[in-house]
Amino acid sequence: MSNDAFAGALKQLEKVNKLINLEENIYEQLKAPHRFLEVSIPVKMDNGQIKIFRGFRSQFNDARGPYKGGIRFHPGVNESEVRALSMWMTWKCAVVGIPLGGGKGGVIVNPKELSAGELERLSRGYMKAIYKFIGPDLDVPAPDVYTDPKIMGWMLDEYEKSVGHHAPGVITGKPLSIGGSKARGYSTAQGGFYVLSEAVKKVGLKKDLTVAVQGFGNAGANMTKILSENGYKIMAVSDSRGAAGNAKGLDIKSLMEHKEKTGGVLNFAGGKNLETDILEQEVDILVLAALENSVTMENVQKVKAHLVIELANGPIAPDADEVLANNSIVVIPDILANAGGVAVSYFEQVQNAYNYYWSEEEVLRQLKDIMVLSFNQVWEKKEQYKTDVRMGAYALAVERVGQAMRDKGWN
Ligand code: NAD
Repeated sequence: MSNDAFAGALKQLEKVNKLINLEENIYEQLKAPHRFLEVSIPVKMDNGQIKIFRGFRSQFNDARGPYKGGIRFHPGVNESEVRALSMWMTWKCAVVGIPLGGGKGGVIVNPKELSAGELERLSRGYMKAIYKFIGPDLDVPAPDVYTDPKIMGWMLDEYEKSVGHHAPGVITGKPLSIGGSKARGYSTAQGGFYVLSEAVKKVGLKKDLTVAVQGFGNAGANMTKILSENGYKIMAVSDSRGAAGNAKGLDIKSLMEHKEKTGGVLNFAGGKNLETDILEQEVDILVLAALENSVTMENVQKVKAHLVIELANGPIAPDADEVLANNSIVVIPDILANAGGVAVSYFEQVQNAYNYYWSEEEVLRQLKDIMVLSFNQVWEKKEQYKTDVRMGAYALAVERVGQAMRDKGWN
């Protein structure tokens, strides 16, 4: 993500405000996070030296509920990115109508260069630095890029030791044994699938639909599996090293086994390596599940799908987005398409608060209800404002946040 991520997020807000016309007193308050923490994290490395890492936590807006958002461990983390992601989390929670605000955290680090012990000390150190500012009713972190349930477990332990009591709802995406929710591991993809199924009906796509998927990690691989189990034909899949395809459709179970063994999708016996860009596959649906800014002005004209779904955050650059709209390609935006993850994080918190745990079927039933309802509410906004799906989602989200602020008397 560029260093100007927050400038881009502000531009989006300005654009949606042209549609929904918030009063000045509300709009001004949406231009910066409520609180932005910068912390130094001293970590004793395996060689005995102390190394200082920089970390951030942005608490953007809590009008609708506690701040909510993941913690990213990545060398590219910067203040602007954390601010932008915390703003987008505010919209994401609002678009799916869950009673949470928006936040985000990050540490500038390449976790692949750390030993397991160093990673644990860094995770605990970050929590030690921020624990006074978070809590189940205040700010609730979760995993994001290069953080996972194991790291959430260490962080929960550090938090509980610091405050002196159990508080599993302070962090989501935990392992099941310590208060995680069933289905959380694949909830982003599952939520994306429910939304996609609605979009397919609205756009009028018929049976035997073909799909290409960019990115074969947590979001992309789970989505590919769910789609193939539901009768979609997966024509091509890519990861950071290359792409595999099969004109008759890929066998996803074998492809996942191949990835397990080799670490990627290349040289898969059930297909061939593709020379062409994953974006230019002649398919009905393109799933973007890799990184931000994958579709830019340089490659946007290659996109041939009718429907594009953003499981990744910000995979389409704003100017490229306009080209897709001009080419009559419908894009289901990230704040709606990948909100299944935060929806199940919310369920996880609810279960923690009750200390009573749901079956997987129950989680999926509730997730489907939220995603189908949210898709249809977004579509209504799109029609109301005669705009695209992205601006429909933004309009719905920002109006909801504005309403909560007004109802609290913040205007
Ligand atoms: P991940 O690290 O598990 O997977 C990323 C995948 O993208 C990997 O397969 C990687 O090889 C691939 N990739 C990287 N560069 C690529 C390139 N140039 N071309 C094709 N593939 C490339 O990450 P993830 O958790 O699946 O997240 C992917 C995106 O989805 C991110 O933008 C993330 O913020 C977003 N997201 C994920 C979740 C979640 O629950 N996992 C929730 C919300 C949003």
